[in-house]
Amino acid sequence: MAGSISFLKQVHRAFDEAATHTDLSPGLTKQIREANSVYQVSFPIARDDGRIEVIEAWRCEHSHHKLPTKGGIRFSTLVNEDETRALATLMTFKCAVVDVPFGGAKGGIKIDRRKYSDAELERITRRYAYELASKSFIGPGIDVPAPDYGTGPREMGWIVDTYRALTSGELNAEACVTGKPVGIGGIRGRTEATGRGVFFGLREACSIAEDMAELGLSTGLADKRVVIQGLGNVGSHSARFLAEGGASIVAVAEYEGAIHNPSGLDIEAVIEHRKDTGSILDFPGSTNLSESEEALELECDILVPAALENQITHENAPRIQARIIGEAANGPTTADANDILRQRGVMVLPDMYLNAGGVTVSYFEWAKNLSHIRFGRMQKRAEEASHRRLLEAVESASGAHFTDLEKDVVTEGSGEEQLVNSGLEETMLVAYHEIREIQKRLGDKADLRVAALVSAIEKIAITYSLLGIFP
Ligand code: NAD
Repeated sequence: MAGSISFLKQVHRAFDEAATHTDLSPGLTKQIREANSVYQVSFPIARDDGRIEVIEAWRCEHSHHKLPTKGGIRFSTLVNEDETRALATLMTFKCAVVDVPFGGAKGGIKIDRRKYSDAELERITRRYAYELASKSFIGPGIDVPAPDYGTGPREMGWIVDTYRALTSGELNAEACVTGKPVGIGGIRGRTEATGRGVFFGLREACSIAEDMAELGLSTGLADKRVVIQGLGNVGSHSARFLAEGGASIVAVAEYEGAIHNPSGLDIEAVIEHRKDTGSILDFPGSTNLSESEEALELECDILVPAALENQITHENAPRIQARIIGEAANGPTTADANDILRQRGVMVLPDMYLNAGGVTVSYFEWAKNLSHIRFGRMQKRAEEASHRRLLEAVESASGAHFTDLEKDVVTEGSGEEQLVNSGLEETMLVAYHEIREIQKRLGDKADLRVAALVSAIEKIAITYSLLGIFP
């Protein structure tokens, strides 16, 4: 029943259930649950033909228990205050689950980006950044936006430039937003980080023989049949990494329809086909499904919704055949659908864990901006020299001789991208085992979503207690 209970109520319903598994006071629980501040703004922009249009936008800072707050900005016609609050709330828990030291936030502009020229989108983005700055809703130590649905590095570049113009001389201005192009303080690996994190999370879940046996699945990603909904940033990178990890992408759904090939789709070729033709449909060797939602119900092992919220509802949940749902999007499963899937024994890897790769690497980008130095710049060559000395010592002690190629491979030091990916992998693996352990402790009383929330709530409660606010 998508929309019958609001997105925010659904998030609160899951929170309330998780809170029953903690022994926190009602006052503290309420403080953790409610949004700290919400800014709604309407502003005029000039269309290219001279007409003036009034644009509605929001920014919600859900939790100030850690600063800055952090969360994406989306461009979508579905943006409203309820959605922005819900997404900001999820961000707070997401940051806590993966130990990223931020409170949660989210922003949105209510537009269909396809109906605006690039120049109009630039005017809208810059005006929104100006509105945020003038009300202190953006800043490296205040609130740091990032890309989300409908936005990317280009929009983040416009925001940095606007912020810099308004705060002349601020040394850390680049840290006011993450997901920027690398040339202006972005970090290698950020664009694909959410999809890479989805891959690490699913790979880890599928590597645990005991859990896979319960689902009636073999261990590992190899040959797992995957359906992807949404071939945007998160969906396309999730699909790429899953395919590289041995999974078979059997269907892809976009808003124009879906394509299906039980023997597997070449995901790079699908992306190229969409670039060339403007649609995923009519991809050679695949069958078109005219109703995009049909793809969610196809026979597969893993379903990855990577588009928008409220896609798996109480209506289609009974017909979903996947044994694992990897929530790459935020809020793709309604609370009612979640109950049905739980009863049916489907494993749901919750959004607040599975798509946390984006905010994790955003944290690395923010830290890089504050330190004003690229990760790996100081130690890469020193690491290589140290590995080379070690190899030479092994050669002289053993009489073995390594070729130059072998030496290069073994001694290579870590650059920014390797360090980012390593930090992301560590984060996703540690967090998965933390929430799995809580889920095992709670047994039938909790699924992984409740366990992730319990983990987050307990961590946030500790911060409040250390601050002396709720001793
Ligand atoms: P995006 O705009 O790059 O891609 C979304 C894709 O979904 C688009 O290609 C769009 O056409 C498609 N789509 C829209 N409605 C659809 C429908 N009904 N059926 C099938 N496809 C549909 O956005 P994104 O950044 O990939 O974000 C996708 C989801 O992931 C959102 O829920 C977002 O909040 C979440 N997310 C994104 C990030 C990030 O780093 N970008 C991080 C965490 C979570």
